[in-house]
Amino acid sequence: FPADKTAKIFVAGHRGLVGSAIVRKLLQIGFTNLILRTHKELDLTRQSDVEAFFAQEKPQFVILSAAKVGGIHANSTYPADFISINLQIQTNVIDASYRNGVKKLLFLGSSCIYPKFAPQPIMEDALLTGPLEPTNEWYAVAKIAGIKMCQAYRLQYDWDAISGMPTNLYGPNDNFHPQNSHVLPALIRRFHEAKVSGANEVVVWGTGSPLREFLHVDDLADAVVFLMEKYSGLGHVNVGSGKEVTIKDLAELVKEVVGFEGELLWDSTKPDGTPRKLMDSSKLAGLGWVPKISLRDGLVDTYKWKLQVLVGFIL
Ligand code: GDP
Repeated sequence: FPADKTAKIFVAGHRGLVGSAIVRKLLQIGFTNLILRTHKELDLTRQSDVEAFFAQEKPQFVILSAAKVGGIHANSTYPADFISINLQIQTNVIDASYRNGVKKLLFLGSSCIYPKFAPQPIMEDALLTGPLEPTNEWYAVAKIAGIKMCQAYRLQYDWDAISGMPTNLYGPNDNFHPQNSHVLPALIRRFHEAKVSGANEVVVWGTGSPLREFLHVDDLADAVVFLMEKYSGLGHVNVGSGKEVTIKDLAELVKEVVGFEGELLWDSTKPDGTPRKLMDSSKLAGLGWVPKISLRDGLVDTYKWKLQVLVGFIL
């Protein structure tokens, strides 16, 4: 990654949870020439628009954090969207980056690329060793294709494309949709609404027994900059916190941070998804990067952000 802070960097998906955190980080460390396009300004699923954009702007570096994302319910409800939109975005952006002289590209995936019953903690080499978790296989297949596309372009063209696989992320600018979001924003919202309305109960999905690993998106953004600076290998790199929590303990923690005092009700008609999903991030640790934000601190920060948005909305 360049010492020259005027280098042109395209952050695709800069309004999302991940892209917005990367933009904050790049601005914080002094980059001045970020190229950003809203979904309305540039639809990344349209190949000719993406090609025209790259030919005109000629970015030097690309961070691909644009994707169609969602939680366990959204993935099962919109399988066609999850596979087709993600394949289109990543194919268009990766190929146009290569053809327009981008020096380095970083592609972001997800821990759901790994087989449902991969040995835990999951090492990078577990990829494609077994069947995927059915609730999100559409998204996972697209992300696996993205990793393989980066590898193929490196092998065939000696082009510097790398991939980072973050664990479950959370933080400001997350999607707080009641049904389609991931568990953490869903719970923040549900506990907050229950607190405000004086409800006695909050419904949480599944059995509470699945284990999940969470990483604050500001830690991910820090790791992304680190990888752009330090890593140019063929293999993808896991980016996790190394800490896992049961959904039950997570719900108790969100309840406490939000300050809801009622009961939890478990809706076992909702799916649990994969039983455990802890990544082995020792490859990244070996390169010299470790996360800094604890789950509790990150949750407090995210709830504070959500409250500011709610207050801003009411005013
Ligand atoms: P996953 O990590 O791909 O399974 O995605 P999610 O973040 O959507 O779900 C994680 C776990 O949290 C699953 O076991 C869900 O059943 C559980 N969960 C509990 N309550 C909720 C909720 O309100 N929304 C979501 N999305 N998941 C929930």
